[in-house]
Amino acid sequence: MASLSKSKILLYLQCPKRLWLSINRPDLVDIIPATKERFAEGNKVGDIARYNHPGGVFIDTRIEAEALSLTANARERHLAIFEAAFLVEDVLIRADLLLPNREGYRLVEVKSSTEVKQYHIDDAAVQTWAMTKSGCEPNQVAVAYINNQFVYQGDGNYFDLFTEGDLSNEVKERLPDVEGWVHDAKKILALSSAPNIAPGTQCKEPFLCDFYNYCNPPEEEALYPVDILPYGRKKADELRAKGYKDLRNVPSELLEDPRHIKVHTASVSGVSSLEPEATRQINELPYPRYYLDFETVAFAVPIWKGTRPYMQIPFQWSCHIENQDGTIAHHEFLDISGNDPRLEFAETLVSALGNGGVVIVYSAGFEGARLKELAEEFPLLSNYLLAIKERFFDLLPLARNYYYHPDMKGSWSIKHVLPTIAPELNYSKLEVSDGTVAQEAYKEVMNLTTSIERREHLRKEMLKYCKQDTWAMVKIVEAWRK
Ligand code: SF4
Repeated sequence: MASLSKSKILLYLQCPKRLWLSINRPDLVDIIPATKERFAEGNKVGDIARYNHPGGVFIDTRIEAEALSLTANARERHLAIFEAAFLVEDVLIRADLLLPNREGYRLVEVKSSTEVKQYHIDDAAVQTWAMTKSGCEPNQVAVAYINNQFVYQGDGNYFDLFTEGDLSNEVKERLPDVEGWVHDAKKILALSSAPNIAPGTQCKEPFLCDFYNYCNPPEEEALYPVDILPYGRKKADELRAKGYKDLRNVPSELLEDPRHIKVHTASVSGVSSLEPEATRQINELPYPRYYLDFETVAFAVPIWKGTRPYMQIPFQWSCHIENQDGTIAHHEFLDISGNDPRLEFAETLVSALGNGGVVIVYSAGFEGARLKELAEEFPLLSNYLLAIKERFFDLLPLARNYYYHPDMKGSWSIKHVLPTIAPELNYSKLEVSDGTVAQEAYKEVMNLTTSIERREHLRKEMLKYCKQDTWAMVKIVEAWRK
């Protein structure tokens, strides 16, 4: 068995400690939902890339010897090869697409990003190094990434889903470094304990490390870590370098940004603040008040006609309607049929929101952009949808400008604001607890292999989550108008 792979070498390049932990302490891996989502979408992208090259040989096995033998066989016949295997100096690589041309093969690495990233060059350099050493030097190296302008026509044709970028020159320049990476990565693997590497910018670049929580445990003596400073990564690094871990120990004269000063003051005093301007603006809002929230899903490979890669497609809304006499009604929509949900989403929304009354949202940019896209897609509903947008009142800037509670720890997201106002409505008690988990649940619900019982369970959890988002706004407004 090979001791290294391309992925392991890339882990080494991000952080040698990450490589060591991935081999020796896999029990410490902590994968967040967004990472799982990225992997799942990446797999679908790989499937489509192969589908776009009919007639190739897919080396569909994880057994090393079998993969190597099947690859050698396909090479002899000069066929296109997907997941071709090469083993050199104890390093096993799997090449996404090897496409034959007159002189040999060109290598195409498939990525689910919408642009070429710096780390793609390292990735392709490792592949090229291993192929070259195995006597199969590619005569061109390219990366196929997602063309986000591609519009799916609903006909199973994904030929234009990818854009290719030629990396041959960049890879040529990087190639001499690969030998050293392999050598150093092997030295790390030979260590009996993890290398002593302090957390830093590498923990989140190019991806959030799976060992982040292990290497960055909440420090007991730092209840308000300097990292909570909003938009303050540089400042936090500066303060940490001066020996400050907890914001409460930082002298106020070291802070200039008004947002940092606000967070610092509240953390030191332990006192929350609500400025009268928030109450004034809330009390001026007319009735009925519609509290609105959307959930959306995005696919790297679009599945519905007229949609683009990574387009945010709304599939669920929740709305609490508060009348002047204090009565509150709730309306909601969730389509789990697996069909394009947009038209029914738009129709039910227009019907529930009527023509008058303020529409209260949290971060208007997101809901506003979805309404605009729906208006473009459905011209007959366009005026109604755009009129809803005109009625928006955004709670987020109100919170940012006039409210802060020390427990928000530098974040004004509704998930952090709500527990400071209505602690009984904590999101951590929900199975679907944020937008990414809601997306995952939606994809699972749409999957035909999901059991009826599981679908029904997820449907209820998704409804509960979206309803809580709009109920949270009702509670925030109620608290601030007093
Ligand atoms: S969390 Fe940071 S320091 Fe720890 S292994 Fe990952 S990249 Fe390295």
